[in-house]
Amino acid sequence: MQSDALCFTHDSNMGSMIVTDDQMTIISISDSFKTDIGETNELLLKPLNTLCTSDKHFFTQEALFELQRSGMWQGTIEHYYNNSEKTSLQVTAYAVRNSLNEIEFYTLFLNHTDKRLLHTTQIDSLTKLPNRTYLLDVLEKRLSSAKQERGFTSLLFIEFDDLARFNETFGFDIDDQLIVQLSEKLKSLLGADDVLARVGNEQFAIVSQNFESEESTEIFAKRIISMLYEPFFVDPNMFYISASIGISLSSADERDAYRLLKTAENTMRRVQKDGKNHIAFTQYKAQSSLQKSMHLMEDLPAAIENGEIYFVYQGQYDHERERFSGAELLARWRHPKYGEVSPGLFIPLAEQSGMIGPLTIKAIIEASKMFAKLEEANIKDFSLSVNISPAVLMASDFIETVQFLRHNYDLVGKKLNFEITEETLTQNIDNLVQLLEQIREMGIGIEVDDYGTGYTSLQYLANLPIDILKIDRSFVSGIDRDLKKRGLFQAIVNMSHALDIDVIAEGVETALEDAIIKKFNFITVQGYFYCKPKESNNLLEKLKDNNENTACVWTLLRA
Ligand code: C2E
Ligand code: CA
Ligand code: CA
Repeated sequence: MQSDALCFTHDSNMGSMIVTDDQMTIISISDSFKTDIGETNELLLKPLNTLCTSDKHFFTQEALFELQRSGMWQGTIEHYYNNSEKTSLQVTAYAVRNSLNEIEFYTLFLNHTDKRLLHTTQIDSLTKLPNRTYLLDVLEKRLSSAKQERGFTSLLFIEFDDLARFNETFGFDIDDQLIVQLSEKLKSLLGADDVLARVGNEQFAIVSQNFESEESTEIFAKRIISMLYEPFFVDPNMFYISASIGISLSSADERDAYRLLKTAENTMRRVQKDGKNHIAFTQYKAQSSLQKSMHLMEDLPAAIENGEIYFVYQGQYDHERERFSGAELLARWRHPKYGEVSPGLFIPLAEQSGMIGPLTIKAIIEASKMFAKLEEANIKDFSLSVNISPAVLMASDFIETVQFLRHNYDLVGKKLNFEITEETLTQNIDNLVQLLEQIREMGIGIEVDDYGTGYTSLQYLANLPIDILKIDRSFVSGIDRDLKKRGLFQAIVNMSHALDIDVIAEGVETALEDAIIKKFNFITVQGYFYCKPKESNNLLEKLKDNNENTACVWTLLRA
């Protein structure tokens, strides 16, 4: 058989062709090989005859013998696509002899028996990369592999910015060309056994088990971002492209490939909201904290009942009167399994699950008990503030519930305040002014919490019945060093006082911050510097000390 004739028998629909020398060392491989056989296959690295004794690869001794004897062998061999997925391959091999009847070449034609399936459902036709289906397959295998037992699998979900927008200006398939270039660049960054897939139009995903830590995954993600600092060229034009990357890391107990991919995708969406060329993590800790959140949500109702959720108090120090004039109730959860759970975690869960209502009722009842203790300790003229979430404020029976509590828990005439965040006040709440006025009519003060984070106009505030403005910690921390902050703080204070609204500065942590704030008159401060959140009895102790030492502020410093 002539080698010329062989070349003609091959066409691109037939699969891949390999030509080897007489020792079966590969001389040439057709371009379609990588798509058909996989890129990291051992076939590329070793002479074929060294593989002939392997039971999973290539020729058996018998096959080789037959090929050499008759000049042709046809059969099926099993092979591992990209070393991970077992598929079968149809091989037609020819031994090509020279005029001396010595074997000069071997030529092999390879066809996946299930090639059509692989192509239509698992390979992206533009980039020739595995697609989402294939990726999920690989991911599932990786998650149950031994390596996963020891470490974790990282999944990076990358979305490039809208490339199709270039088409109108530069030509209709610019986006395709850019996507191919991007896929090549991404490929060049891959480590051994990493899998790159095109999972959506402008979306790629990388699965890797090569990273030891979150940090090393992040470094890799940063390399992807920095690869985009260089322009891409589709002659004669130059393009800058940005991307957002979401990463999910899976621990040994996470085996759900779909969820890992979805988590990375959702994380990427979050990044996109913040702007492009960013990276964010949903790490396996957060992943398991997803499960934890589910458990916490289930445990919430009982925890509110049984006292696992309780309240601490953070004193508010009035500079003018040189005494503590009030305290804020802050919820805490001592969970039997998870230990101290931050309100930053469980308050949103309570809001989502509707349990924020009962929690707030518990806070108001707790405040009533504290008022009784204060009275007993002869501490007068002292306010207690309860945080009110938007869902609570907007509940149709809110006013009614508060009325009930006032009368049944001896709150009439007590200095109770509700803290409502600036953000809540800017939401479109029906009859907001009327609602706030009803609260006020019950003798409950209204505080704007976290003021300065929502950019409410002064005009807007002037139209609301508000008693106290709590200036957010971001305006307070570092006020001793930052003149701009000081200016803003001053402006807020002036405005509030002009509107006859009292001011509390939140998050005062240092003596220097306190000294600056003290210079603005009529300001109350709340922060770790004067008082960390404390259980009721500890606060009472502190307040008693305070009563006895009103002249000496320094004895109050830090708990
Ligand atoms: P917030 O209402 O802004 O409460 C102030 C937060 O700042 C508290 O965190 C407090 O411990 C902390 N803090 C106070 N002084 C300082 C300081 O000097 N430095 C620093 N770095 N932080 C300080 P916490 O207790 O973790 O509460 C977080 C948030 O959870 C609260 O923010 C509030 O939005 C919510 N929350 C807490 N308890 C309740 C509750 O009973 N009901 C509702 N609806 N939300 C609550
Ligand atoms: Ca608050
Ligand atoms: Ca606050």
